[in-house]
Amino acid sequence: MRHRETWPRTAGRRHQAACHLCDALHDAPLVEEGREARCRVCGEVLYENRPASLERAVAFGTASLVLMLVAHTFPFLELDAQGREAEMSLTGAALRLMQEGSDLLGLAVGVFTLLAPLILAGGLVYVCLPLMWGKAWPGAVQVTRLVQEAQPWAMLEVFILGVLVSLLKLVKLAEVELGIAFWALGLLMICLTAAFAGIDRRELWDRLEVAREQ
Ligand SMILES: [Zn+2]
Repeated sequence: MRHRETWPRTAGRRHQAACHLCDALHDAPLVEEGREARCRVCGEVLYENRPASLERAVAFGTASLVLMLVAHTFPFLELDAQGREAEMSLTGAALRLMQEGSDLLGLAVGVFTLLAPLILAGGLVYVCLPLMWGKAWPGAVQVTRLVQEAQPWAMLEVFILGVLVSLLKLVKLAEVELGIAFWALGLLMICLTAAFAGIDRRELWDRLEVAREQ
C-alpha cells in the first residue's frame, strides 16, 4: 500500500490556519493525502492535501517549459507554393502577421506563446520545486502572486485558432502543413492546464506559509 502523507508538515511547531470566509482561527489539524480540513464555524475548506500535488505541478510545469522551447525552435508551418518549400517559425508567423497589418495578432503570438507560459510554468516550478522539501526560495510569495495574476492570460487555445485562421487566409496559395511547433503548442496547452489542475491555490498558499514559518 502507498504511504499516505499527512499535511501540514511542521517541525515541532503548531501551524494555525484562518478561514478564508469567516476568519475563524484553527490549530491546523493533520489531513491525509486526498482529504481536506474544513472550518469548524462555517464549513469552508481551510486547506487540502491533494495527492502528489507538488510533484504534478513540477512535472507538468517542466514539461511545459520544454514544449515552449520546442515550439520556438521548430517550424510552425511548412509551406509548399509551386514547388518551392518554405518553413515558417512562430517568430516568422508573428512578423508576417504584423506585415499584413495584424499588429495585435502578431503581438499576441509573443504574449501567448512566450511571455504567459514562461511566467506560468516557470513561476510554478520555481515555487513548487523547493516546496517538495518544505522550503521556499526567495521571492516565492511574489512569484506566486504573479503566477495567479497571469493565469487569465493563458488563453493559448483561443490564440492558436486565431493565428491558424489568419495564416491560412494569408497563405491560401500554398499547401500548408502544420509543423512540430504547432503540435508542441497544443501539448503545451494541455500540460499547463494539468500543472494548475493538480494544485489548489489555497493549498499552495498554505504550503508557502508553513515553509516560511520553519
Ligand atoms: Zn469559516
